[in-house]
Amino acid sequence: MTPLHRGGVIGVLGGGQLGRMLGHAAEQLGYRVHVLSPRPGPATQVTPDHTLADYEDEAALARFADAVDVVTSEFENVPASAAAFLAARVPVRPGPRALATCQDRIAEKTFLREAGIPTAPWGEAHGPADVARLAETLGRPCVLKTARFGYDGKGQAMVKAGTDPADAWATIAGHAPDAAGVVEGWVDFSWEASVVVARGLDGHTVCYPLVENRHRDHILHETLAPAPRATPDVAARAQALAERVAQALDIVGLIAVELFVGADGDLRVNELAARPHNSGHWSMNGARVSQFEQCIRAITGNPLGDARAIAPTRMVNLLGDEVLDRDRWLRDPDAHLHDYGKDEVRPGRKMGHVNIVQRG
Ligand code: AMP
Repeated sequence: MTPLHRGGVIGVLGGGQLGRMLGHAAEQLGYRVHVLSPRPGPATQVTPDHTLADYEDEAALARFADAVDVVTSEFENVPASAAAFLAARVPVRPGPRALATCQDRIAEKTFLREAGIPTAPWGEAHGPADVARLAETLGRPCVLKTARFGYDGKGQAMVKAGTDPADAWATIAGHAPDAAGVVEGWVDFSWEASVVVARGLDGHTVCYPLVENRHRDHILHETLAPAPRATPDVAARAQALAERVAQALDIVGLIAVELFVGADGDLRVNELAARPHNSGHWSMNGARVSQFEQCIRAITGNPLGDARAIAPTRMVNLLGDEVLDRDRWLRDPDAHLHDYGKDEVRPGRKMGHVNIVQRG
């Protein structure tokens, strides 16, 4: 297995903050990055080589494929057709099957069921009658989620006692172009967690510590790494589960596994993301090797780095105008500010994050 040579070009699908941070990590290791994105964004600001084109533009995809040595993605919803088109020309890591599985909740949950990995009880919904039937079998409250294109709680509707399941369907129908969704039974979890795992070309895996995620209004607010309330047993089981997911999906690169942790330490997978993950941002200052460098190492066939924490670290997302309060963080000697350079400040928009590393 020969690693990608120095000066090799990594193609990144997507122009957001994850692409920007992947770009920084790639550059540190002596690689060049070429971003493909429909519009300028945080990643194209820092990557002189980029293609602004739609993911369906095959002429642009062909030029992009010619310009790069390996492709990875930072954008969840790269069309399957684009991933397949590129994979016929250049290595795409993680590959089209992993991308397709993680961008559709039905495919994702079916994969997890077949792999014997616990999730919330669930069923497929293609109309209001399915929602009503599943609300009967799964009990209320339950939650209807669009199969595709949902994020940060968007495209979701609760079915509570006394409410009409048809109303839930009507709420998400606008977000579900193919009118497909899943209904999940309510999980009475104790806390939320995630594990980022890297898998190299040789199938070797390296896990980051289990972290605790706290949300506000369905958006990740902060991550505590390593998870202060994880017992060694819970952490080991979560990591083993993440490794199984990475093996079963044949990941080369990173996959993040989001989990619900029950009061007695039982684990259920909520979601998968085959890319660097917001809950892994703490690793930029709190781990020996950041998730972005790790991703670059994995997809270029280099040895994986040490994913252990160097100190307990708290990552706080800066949403909307919180990014303007930068002085507070720049004056704090334990804080590391990461600003994504987005021009337009919108409420709830992820504008940056801060890593606060506990002093030894
Ligand atoms: P998701 O978009 O699937 O990550 O869901 C967003 C958030 O909603 C999760 O982080 C949980 O806090 C909550 N949630 C989602 N699904 C369930 C469920 N089945 N039971 C309880 N809470 C849930």
